[in-house]
Amino acid sequence: MDTVNRIFCIGKNYAAHVAELAHLGHKTDGECVIFMKPVSAIVEEGAPVVLPKGRGEVHHEAELVVQLTGGGRDIPREEALDCISGITLGLDLTLRELQTELKNKGLPWELAKAFDGSAPLGEMRPYLNQDLQQLEFSLHVNGRLRQHGRTADMLFPVAQQISILSQTWALEPGDIIFTGTPKGVGPLKAGDELVLESRGIGRFRWMCA
Ligand code: MG
Repeated sequence: MDTVNRIFCIGKNYAAHVAELAHLGHKTDGECVIFMKPVSAIVEEGAPVVLPKGRGEVHHEAELVVQLTGGGRDIPREEALDCISGITLGLDLTLRELQTELKNKGLPWELAKAFDGSAPLGEMRPYLNQDLQQLEFSLHVNGRLRQHGRTADMLFPVAQQISILSQTWALEPGDIIFTGTPKGVGPLKAGDELVLESRGIGRFRWMCA
């Protein structure tokens, strides 16, 4: 895979996922959330996913991930897909209890979302102009289906995400975007086997430690 430059993440992009966290105070408000993780968050396939210990539940969030060739500032939505070089699947691991606490205090999310090892990332596959809004992907934990997503359900399609991000950052080669998670998030524990899979993208496996 091309070296990853920056990791952008989109939150609140699938209505059914926002709804499943409503009891924690998450609401749909017509906007997505944007946050970042450091590259030290990446866990390549085959390396152990070391879960933070003693800090509350660590939730999996299975997501489509795209990598960019660059593109710079103010990319029109109609041109945004031309900036994509690769696609894969990844996990936006989240310390859910800590995130809720930070959110309720109006504080930034980094401690809950950007810790080392919080971004297991599959091998990047070339983007061949497949329709990014007609993909399906799944996460199995220990052989049981936990998440099944259809990118047709995204509130903010990938092209719109790129356009939005480019209003704040000049997008650079190697930047990647975690495009949000569908419903079904839940806790992980040491020893869990994680399998992310999508027809046309690939199958990626990790073990939690
Ligand atoms: Mg996420």
